[in-house]
Amino acid sequence: MKTGLVWDERYMWYDFGSYASVFNDYRFIQPGTQPETPESKRRILNLLETAGLLEQLKLIKPACVSNEELALVHDLDYINRVAEISADHGGYAGSGLLMPSGGFELAALAAGGTKAAIDAVLNKEVSNAYALVRPPGHHAEKDTGMALCVFSNIAVAVKSAMQEHGLRKVAIIDWDAHHGNGTESAFYSDPSVLTLSIHQDQMIYGRGFVEHNGEGDGEGYNLNIPLPPGSGTGAYLTAFERIIIPAVTQFGPDLIVVASGLDAGFSDPTARMLLHSESFRLMTRYTMELAANVCSGNLVLSHEGGYDPTMTPFLALAIFEELSGLKSRITKEDNPFEGPYTGFIVEEHQKLSEQQDQFLQRAENMLRFIT
Ligand SMILES: [Zn+2]
Repeated sequence: MKTGLVWDERYMWYDFGSYASVFNDYRFIQPGTQPETPESKRRILNLLETAGLLEQLKLIKPACVSNEELALVHDLDYINRVAEISADHGGYAGSGLLMPSGGFELAALAAGGTKAAIDAVLNKEVSNAYALVRPPGHHAEKDTGMALCVFSNIAVAVKSAMQEHGLRKVAIIDWDAHHGNGTESAFYSDPSVLTLSIHQDQMIYGRGFVEHNGEGDGEGYNLNIPLPPGSGTGAYLTAFERIIIPAVTQFGPDLIVVASGLDAGFSDPTARMLLHSESFRLMTRYTMELAANVCSGNLVLSHEGGYDPTMTPFLALAIFEELSGLKSRITKEDNPFEGPYTGFIVEEHQKLSEQQDQFLQRAENMLRFIT
């Protein structure tokens, strides 16, 4: 079976409007553009084609999720507000979140793309799948959009798929550099979904702390793994070995979904982590092995952040090579972000520093809650 790719040109049409980097208050800052432009995503598709991989993937076309599916996660008031703003020439749908005219349908199509990828995997149409969706979703809360996210793509798709496919348990691994606050909120008291987020410490104000580990019946089923800025391959792979793999194995899900933000790449403008193509290749390999061991290989990745338009496609290429088992015509030597360019990163950050080890020990202590 082939690896599935969810893609729709309309994902590129969501326009976040005028910003200056992540700011949209122009009293003392010159207006400009947002890091979250279509470019880094469109270039992923283009590099897959250039590399000779695109034609070997199975294209999956998405459909919008219904309002009933959105309501599995979001308040009706919020859904209606977004629909009204979208129908009425656009406006703000949350803190700094510009909703263009027609944005409601595009956001519902992004959640629908994640759902389509899950359906294709569970229906055995593909071996695994990557939903290259936009706008992203993992910061959207129940009652508000946040940080470029309108609807919680993965949470909506997972809740809908659990009903339709009769899944008992799902594990969500968020490797975006920013904490997956919206996904955490959606399942915070739900023991049937294990949410894990590995992220740069304190990048989302007041969220993502180790101590935030779920509540009520869901206590223990939310694992935050904050890491200090400057963490690289060594810290991330150790987090997999010591926390993510044991937690998911113990939990025993029917499906693993990855919130695949690529903004922990070393040249990303919105974070300060030091991953590169080979880091994402190894994290994908670890996750595939984990899925093979616990849930018959049922694995879906849904795109989140990743804002350097030149580097991000090479990070994604490594993920797609690993998912599909195919080698592209672009070798490691051809990758401008490997070799001498990353020499200092690869050597210095293969090992775990003392500070990173202390961070991981605190997260590791929370494993005791999972039964
Ligand atoms: Zn991010």
